[in-house]
Amino acid sequence: MHELSLAGGIVQLVEDAAARERFRRVQVLRLEAGALSGVEVRALRFALESIVPGTCLAEARIEIDEPPAQAWCLGCNQSVPILSRLDPCPECGGARLQPTGGTELRVVDLLVDDEPATQP
Ligand SMILES: [Zn+2]
Repeated sequence: MHELSLAGGIVQLVEDAAARERFRRVQVLRLEAGALSGVEVRALRFALESIVPGTCLAEARIEIDEPPAQAWCLGCNQSVPILSRLDPCPECGGARLQPTGGTELRVVDLLVDDEPATQP
């Protein structure tokens, strides 16, 4: 399942950051799954929730934004918002669009519990 491997990659990335920056718990994890990323957000959330127990993300609130994608229209020479690769240009109705953004899944923000690792 595609989303499960994506979720694994995200958890690994956060765990790496936790080791590097010495935090133990994440309060909020905010992700962005672009409209063209092909990510099924509900499946991703389910996958994340199934694998976070035991990690620094165990108690984190997970927010997943789905911003519209951007494409460059070769017909009217401007950047336009699209929701799928099959969308025509909303301005001129043309089909010659090159996606320029919204194609990836990425970690936008990480709010960590920054209580020092060693307390008296
Ligand atoms: Zn256009």
